[in-house]
Amino acid sequence: MTRFEDLALIEPLLRAVREEGYEHPTPIQEQAIGPVLAGRDLLGCAQTGTGKTAAFALPILQRLHGAPVPSPRHVRILVLAPTRELASQIGDSFASYGRYTGIRHTTVFGGVGQEPQARALRAGVDVLVATPGRLLDLLQQRIARLDRVEILVLDEADRMLDMGFIHDVRRVISALPRKRQTVFFSATLAPEIRTLARDILTDPVRVEVAPAATTVDTITQSVYRVERHEKFPLLSRLLRDPALRRVIVFTRTKRGANKLAEQLNGSSFKADAIHGNKAQGARERALENFKRGSSRILVATDIASRGIDVDEITHVVNYDLPDVPENYVHRIGRTARAGAGGAAMTFCSPEEREELAAVEKLIRMRIPVQGGEARGAAEPARPLPAPAFRPFSGPRQSRPAAPWARRHRSR
Ligand code: AMP
Repeated sequence: MTRFEDLALIEPLLRAVREEGYEHPTPIQEQAIGPVLAGRDLLGCAQTGTGKTAAFALPILQRLHGAPVPSPRHVRILVLAPTRELASQIGDSFASYGRYTGIRHTTVFGGVGQEPQARALRAGVDVLVATPGRLLDLLQQRIARLDRVEILVLDEADRMLDMGFIHDVRRVISALPRKRQTVFFSATLAPEIRTLARDILTDPVRVEVAPAATTVDTITQSVYRVERHEKFPLLSRLLRDPALRRVIVFTRTKRGANKLAEQLNGSSFKADAIHGNKAQGARERALENFKRGSSRILVATDIASRGIDVDEITHVVNYDLPDVPENYVHRIGRTARAGAGGAAMTFCSPEEREELAAVEKLIRMRIPVQGGEARGAAEPARPLPAPAFRPFSGPRQSRPAAPWARRHRSR
């Protein structure tokens, strides 16, 4: 099995990786680190949860570390991410992996005051992680300058498209030097994404991995058939089990998330809600409480949850079924990160049967019903004839736990 040492990484990075508790590179890291180190453009098809952040951050840090620090310091690496949560997490990863390199980074995103971000930029950074809207504001005010960027990373390009940021992204890219290295990640390669990739990549190396085996294979999935008004009593009953140590509960709407968090707190279950209407500070506090374990339950909507990377989420509860079936897979992928097991429990009211059918069609599997009148409690998961969930064509890693998984630790 490949070791990080085999990937020609320098000691300050190997040390940081060891301290993170990583034992082996993930498949995407094995494939991407070499070409990025060699200066090649990269087209990566991989989701969050596969270790893709380190797959680009490690070789980029190494390329920077090897070069003399320019004076004055200027942005040499630009990472674009669709959401503030993802941008912060990428910034944190650069901080962790780069802790012995002396490389300076900052993260900018909207929804918070601009001044601290402007100050950090004026002081000079090597790596800038940004969401497109705020970056454009800073560019227009000439606070950020991108004319000497050497490497561009575009992360989660498909979500940029979903969220309507693609024009902003193109405008940012037009402010970059043409001669640069570009690293492009997307979970799916829809036609518009291919077009964008073709426009901005030069002779890219293509790497592709299935979602971490964990996102589907090691999650115990179950459905509870309930009337709508029975959902809260059922959730309260389930939460009495201490095995539900760290739980994300998904609702369909922001209002639903607020209401449920209130109901839970009213029943002495410590819960925070996170969704798009909350101010940045409140979202960060909610996430921090949850990460630290001071609240056991995070109630979230789909958009807000994307990219949340909290280790050791033991259970995902789908209080409402998602409108878009793909979100089921994103939701349950919050548990069982980095090779650990996990459980996903889905509440389905009679009004939601169609949504459940759409999910089962997508994952090509019947989810066993708990205490189920409809299909019987003990019915095992029945795979449909076609292969299980596989959004792209890379080899499926079907293992009980990813061998690269680190020992469990909370961040
Ligand atoms: P990402 O796909 O970059 O969001 O990473 C998903 C999770 O995997 C994060 O919690 C990382 O800290 C973790 N991770 C990344 N690389 C490794 C590795 N080589 N071994 C174990 N865990 C890893």
